[in-house]
Amino acid sequence: MSFIGDTVILNTKEMNMEREFFICQNCLKDTHLKKYCKNKGGLNDICIVCEKQDKGIKIDKESKNEISNLFKSCLRFNHREIEYNPNLDGKGLFEFFCNENSLLNHQYKNYNSFHSLISSLFKNYNQNDVKIFYGKFIDNNEEYDSHFEVTLKNGFSEIWYELKKRLKRENYYNIKPDLLQPLSEIIEKTKIKIRKNCRFFRARIGNDYINESKFTSLIKKPVPFQGVNISAPPPLLSSAGRLNREGVSYLYLSSKSTTAIAEIRPNPGDIVSVGEFKCLKTISLIDLRKVNLLKFIYSQKEIELFSFALSLSKEFMKPRTNKNSFHYLITQFVAETFRELNQDGIIYNSAVSNGYNITLFNPSLFEFVPESSSLHRVNKVSFKSTEIKFTKNEIGFYVEKEI
Ligand SMILES: [Zn+2]
Repeated sequence: MSFIGDTVILNTKEMNMEREFFICQNCLKDTHLKKYCKNKGGLNDICIVCEKQDKGIKIDKESKNEISNLFKSCLRFNHREIEYNPNLDGKGLFEFFCNENSLLNHQYKNYNSFHSLISSLFKNYNQNDVKIFYGKFIDNNEEYDSHFEVTLKNGFSEIWYELKKRLKRENYYNIKPDLLQPLSEIIEKTKIKIRKNCRFFRARIGNDYINESKFTSLIKKPVPFQGVNISAPPPLLSSAGRLNREGVSYLYLSSKSTTAIAEIRPNPGDIVSVGEFKCLKTISLIDLRKVNLLKFIYSQKEIELFSFALSLSKEFMKPRTNKNSFHYLITQFVAETFRELNQDGIIYNSAVSNGYNITLFNPSLFEFVPESSSLHRVNKVSFKSTEIKFTKNEIGFYVEKEI
């Protein structure tokens, strides 16, 4: 099966190359488009779609390439190619936008103007532009879906897939040089600072005891673990974790005490010690909690990087099961490469609780806050699940259905 779709959209008359358009904020539906519009400030004009006057974005000679890439990115982010590629039983781009969609108000006032707008937004301006038609299938395996079947937000990354494939057959240090460039770019787009004295939490199952009486060792008071007893274990005693290899000691902290408790997976009835740690200086972290599409909209290469960052974000928060221990090898390898690129650590969402986690490559960047620890009894552990369904794709493989 072979096709490629640029021709799909270019068979409209390109008479309006220099035409300017204005879209109001109300006709922009996707949150990224709304945010972009807000960032661009208060231009006010008549909207080409609803023909009302309001604040919005202007598409002119200077901005058309950037806005076109923005719309293409949002289309890929929200919709599957099979929805708008007529060669894949889709509707065709213009018809697609004449119906309810995630990007634009489809209730236009003027057919010709709306047609010209869509044609201008999805035209190919440069070779590096964001692609909305892939035109190729890639081998399917348990985690690797066809491009057509998935949106960018739920999709996979080719860089990620390549990395996984290579790690199965090559030593990680051979692959590292190829990972430095994409990870450096991700750092630039995701790094944040954590200020000195910010506090985070760490939990450990169990508690300590102190002996209150000089005369007998039989009366012991249960107290929470403190200091080194609740800090990162020394390297020799460190077992492998989500981001650290065996024998490497990283400090894992959480934004809330409940998150810290949930992360150590206690059983109902367990006693847990929770302590606070404070940051000793301003540090730089890679923030993978919510990868911002707007920072990656300028070319196809950036969209691939976005997809890679999104895969990392999902992988970092994935709960550990016996089945995905290979994934830990990858996240450990990626974390190690971030460390070598002079980052202090990574922030990612917790999969088991609200809140987020921080992994510090150098535990001495934080110190235990004396007297901050407390004891907790775990009363209840709850689980959340979603029913999943599988659907057969064009080439006969089953892929998880987007609901
Ligand atoms: Zn409008």
